[in-house]
Amino acid sequence: MSGRAVYHVALAGNPNSGKTTVFNALTGARQHVGNYPGVTVEIKVGRARHPAADVRIIDLPGAYSLIPFSPEERVARDYILRRRPDVVVVVLDASNLERHLFLVTHLLELGAPLVLAANMADVARARGRQYDWARMSRLLGDVPIVPMTASRGVGIAELLEAVTDVASRRRTARPIRLAYRPEFEVELAALETRLEGVATLPAPARGLAVKLLEGDAELATFWPAAAEWEASAAAARARLQARFHETPETLLAEGRYGFISGACQEALTLSPEARHDRSDRLDAVLTHGVWGLPIFLALMYAVFQLTFRLGQYPMGWLENGFELLRAWINGWWPAASPSLLRSLLADGIVGGVGGVLVFMPNILLLFLAIALLEDSGYMARAAFIMDRFMHRLGLHGKSFIPMLVGFGCSVPAIMATRIIENRRDRMITMLVIPLVSCGARFPIYALIIPAFFPPAAQGAAMWLVYLFGIALAILAARLLRATLFRGESVPFVIELPPYRMPTPRGLLQHTWERGWLYVKKAGTLILGISILLWALSAFPRRPADRAVTATAAVTPAAQQLEYSWAGRIGRALEPVFRPAGFDWRITTALLGAFSAKEVFVAQLGIVFAVDNAEEDSSTLRGRLRAAYTPLTAVSILLFCLIATPCMATLAATRRESGAWRWALFQFWGLTLLGYVLAVLAFQAGRLLGCA
Ligand code: GDP
Ligand code: MG
Repeated sequence: MSGRAVYHVALAGNPNSGKTTVFNALTGARQHVGNYPGVTVEIKVGRARHPAADVRIIDLPGAYSLIPFSPEERVARDYILRRRPDVVVVVLDASNLERHLFLVTHLLELGAPLVLAANMADVARARGRQYDWARMSRLLGDVPIVPMTASRGVGIAELLEAVTDVASRRRTARPIRLAYRPEFEVELAALETRLEGVATLPAPARGLAVKLLEGDAELATFWPAAAEWEASAAAARARLQARFHETPETLLAEGRYGFISGACQEALTLSPEARHDRSDRLDAVLTHGVWGLPIFLALMYAVFQLTFRLGQYPMGWLENGFELLRAWINGWWPAASPSLLRSLLADGIVGGVGGVLVFMPNILLLFLAIALLEDSGYMARAAFIMDRFMHRLGLHGKSFIPMLVGFGCSVPAIMATRIIENRRDRMITMLVIPLVSCGARFPIYALIIPAFFPPAAQGAAMWLVYLFGIALAILAARLLRATLFRGESVPFVIELPPYRMPTPRGLLQHTWERGWLYVKKAGTLILGISILLWALSAFPRRPADRAVTATAAVTPAAQQLEYSWAGRIGRALEPVFRPAGFDWRITTALLGAFSAKEVFVAQLGIVFAVDNAEEDSSTLRGRLRAAYTPLTAVSILLFCLIATPCMATLAATRRESGAWRWALFQFWGLTLLGYVLAVLAFQAGRLLGCA
């Protein structure tokens, strides 16, 4: 018979999903039973009645996943990857959809041509679970979903129709990319990039990379150099295991279930009596359409209040400690002797690095709060809420996940944009990420805000700075979408892990890891830059007999500073920044901040320590309060929030976007925006008589 298409269809599904019932309904009596070669797993093959095509159906053994934990799962995996059926029908128990979708996540990642048979629709209905199947289908990448009750023959004809649509390529799906923890994404990206170089892959590189991390080492025998790939996979798994003290497959499964919860949260309406689960009940409040956003904002506010209120005591102790250290070092030399070494130790190193380290307690508290929100599962809900909110603004909601990472550091946040499949959405997100305040900018706020705002307003001020950053990021993204990156965005799933009680150990680990990075940065990069900046402010030496210009620089130290390279550079640039209310000292500190944001604080520490070497020691905050007005403080906050992403961020943007021009666009776009807003704020404030 010529012209009659032959389609190979595999039926997959968990045991007891109704696979055999579906198979029987499709094939009637036209079937026979055999065995898979080499294993005692039974197979049944049959033909479906179809007017236009020869549809050959194989009933795969029941499998919960495609990780070969059991012979049945190995058979299913091998059949799908080696024989590449035209369609894989996954039979699902719709009354227990979350568990049954687990297998689907595997198949989605491997790019199998899928049709989902949402069986047991009668049971689901009886349990009060109503699904919006069209929405679910869109979330899963436009995979056809056919609700059915196989035991009564309901939906069989529709299923066969969907199968021939997919087999004949009349209908194709969109690739779906599940997001895993950032540490996994780093390993995945490395494997994926290497896999893309292999010519004979049986499935998309990303899906295979996940499988390798999942511990399916045999998989590497599907393409050349198996031993090498097995070794790489084992090494990556060992790194993750050491990092999390849990097997990578457990954590990947958690990611899969998170994806499933997110999808079900969007597509399932429970009848009231079905709302029994604890996570669901919490989510009914925390991700509520109206209350969700205010609750999120209130939690953020609480975090900053906590950071300041609790953090001020240890911060005070550290400040006093560093002042004592400075005084002690100064005491090694006779009072009037202008020793360079003394200045380097006391002003350059203790002033610079110490100025950054005093914020350690605040940083640790902030990271602890973030770890608490993350480990409890709330952060995923925040992403869910923001997704809804951002969607309303016409933006891609998945952008908010990298933005959350951006509260820590922009560099991994820019890497995390990889979870966004669409290049347009990814570029937009990448470009605006520096507007989300990173941990390194925290010391700037922690220095400036308490210096100029009353204690009761400090938490609120910090909160406003962060919110303003997020709002600007959203606005900028919107602007980019309307201009450089036009187009529609596709719906997607936000992974919702179950809520759980965070363990003290996990919290400590997460907090310390990030906190330690801060200390390391202070001890290496910031130490180096502090010494450099100190040298810039100590040289060239002012000749003793040289008279100075008639300025406010009255002490010898201040005169030296003005005479130094730092003073000259700051003075040269001062006219540019004068409209924003910055003098040459702030200007030099801003230049330093380009190498790393904390350097702003370090540099002010150096400048003001040098400036006041002879005076009684008081804290840097006190010296700032004496030198500037609150209006200048606002202008500094705005500029530091928005302008000049640091060098590492630009390098990350260059790497991830593939072009320097995007990094430069980001740099100049943000710097100009920050400059304009700082000038506007300062000038408006002056008109209103604030300074
Ligand atoms: P398999 O393990 O996936 O092959 O599942 P079976 O086809 O053997 O079905 C398991 C049980 O579910 C059998 O008792 C079927 O009669 C029953 N079943 C299958 N489909 C449906 C359905 O749509 N609704 C209901 N209520 N029961 C079904
Ligand atoms: Mg069966």
